Amino acid sequence: MTSKPIQIYDTTLRDGSQGEGVSFSLNDKLQIALRLAETGVDFIEGGYPLSNEKDVAFFQEIQEHDLGDTQVCAFGMTRRRGVEAAQDPGMKALVAARTPVITVVGKTWDYHATEVLRVSLEENLAMIGESVQFLAGHAAVIYDAEHFFDGYRANPEYALQTLRAAASGGAAVMSLCDTNGGSLPEQIAEITSAAIDSLRDYPGVTFGIHCHNDSELAVANSLAAVDVGATQVQGTINGIGERCGNADLISVMANLALKKKGYSVLGGRSLQPLTELSRFVYETANLQWRGGQPFVGQSAFAHKGGMHVHAINKAASTYEHIDPALVGNERRILVSELSGRSNIVAVANKHSIEDDREIQDKILAEVVRLENQGFQFENAGGSFDLLIKRVLGTFTPHFSPIKYRVVAGETSADEKDVYAEAILKIRVGDQDCFNAAEGHGPVNALDTALRETLLPSYPQLRDMRLVDYKVRVVDNGAGTAAGTRVNIESADHHESWGTIGVSDNIIEASFQALIDSVEYKLHKENVTPAT
Ligand SMILES: [Zn+2]
Repeated sequence: MTSKPIQIYDTTLRDGSQGEGVSFSLNDKLQIALRLAETGVDFIEGGYPLSNEKDVAFFQEIQEHDLGDTQVCAFGMTRRRGVEAAQDPGMKALVAARTPVITVVGKTWDYHATEVLRVSLEENLAMIGESVQFLAGHAAVIYDAEHFFDGYRANPEYALQTLRAAASGGAAVMSLCDTNGGSLPEQIAEITSAAIDSLRDYPGVTFGIHCHNDSELAVANSLAAVDVGATQVQGTINGIGERCGNADLISVMANLALKKKGYSVLGGRSLQPLTELSRFVYETANLQWRGGQPFVGQSAFAHKGGMHVHAINKAASTYEHIDPALVGNERRILVSELSGRSNIVAVANKHSIEDDREIQDKILAEVVRLENQGFQFENAGGSFDLLIKRVLGTFTPHFSPIKYRVVAGETSADEKDVYAEAILKIRVGDQDCFNAAEGHGPVNALDTALRETLLPSYPQLRDMRLVDYKVRVVDNGAGTAAGTRVNIESADHHESWGTIGVSDNIIEASFQALIDSVEYKLHKENVTPAT
């Protein structure tokens, strides 16, 4: 049976950039576009050429790159009222972007036409039809029917007329937008079917779906539209976007290709790049990864309870809905005192200790000892890896701290000018290295001093970054004083890892976690310690 191809239309660079805290530089946009093209998405919406110079520059520069079969789209609105399409500045900007596809958005909802645009219902239809017709002389046109589902509920007759106006203007695709993100899958299915039925006399026209996630149904709604005949899904990587975001194309693609029967995406290519793509977009957008993100999150295939882990080692499918490798993700086994020996063995797999019960007991004893002090290894895979190496006797330190001092305070109480400095002495090989650095806060100063001191000997640390820093107060009972637990998440271009430090002193706990994070990076890259 041949599967039906579903086009993937990415609007990370336009709708996604509307997300709170997201701002892409021109270079960011180009890098994301190249990644998307490499992954094989069908369309990349690059931006709104009338809105700013950055988007204009994007459309110019992207022409220099070979995107394979991926097509770039410029996005804009229908012509203004009372202006001829050919004379409208927005229309001209769309054509000037010289993209093979132009996406133009128009009003579906009668209320929006009369109250927001303040045009008659007839004029709105003329604006849609004439704009599409003008643009279709220059590029393939996708018509985005804004508020289509709300508009249809309010006035189905008129909503369908707007589509017919776009179709008779020559639009190739009708993209139906759940702009407010409030629809349910059954409503999307019913209304999409009605739209498809009403345009049967335009056999060349196909349908797309563009969902927002305000009811956390954007992915389900997109799939519901595909079920009744939509052949294009619009969305963003990781679902980033305004308010609660857009349909997450990662989940859309994974569900269509791996779960639902009879569909294919990306021309049948592998979905293995998806996990890296997801992380790349988070990093470029300067957003935190979402651990629980389906398919590609770090926790998506993480297992904790001892029973689970035991079962997973026997038959992965009992607790995993897909093989994580299909989307480029991996199974993670979280370690804790509760989870027992099978977790230890699973995590320690790469150390080949599965048959060595004596070593397993030693590791478990060490975990229990440290957990009693307030350590927790669930989010500290990096520190746990080093713990195993220490128990096995294969840990070789790349440096040893001699002393450090951190000073933080205010230079002037009136001006509230705060500062932090760290002074650090460490031994690298046979050299004592001494360094001082300033930072935003004491931990940042310490981190900066540590890295600057180590970089000449270990240039591999250049691409390592601190992604997250968390502090908890731990009270382990048993009469001991409450301490501080610091978790640090670090990342390079390939992976992220957690490390941990525990102490009564928050700076000391942070320093332990920083040291582990650097040691983990150097160990995983098999860097020979400096001599
Ligand atoms: Zn949107």
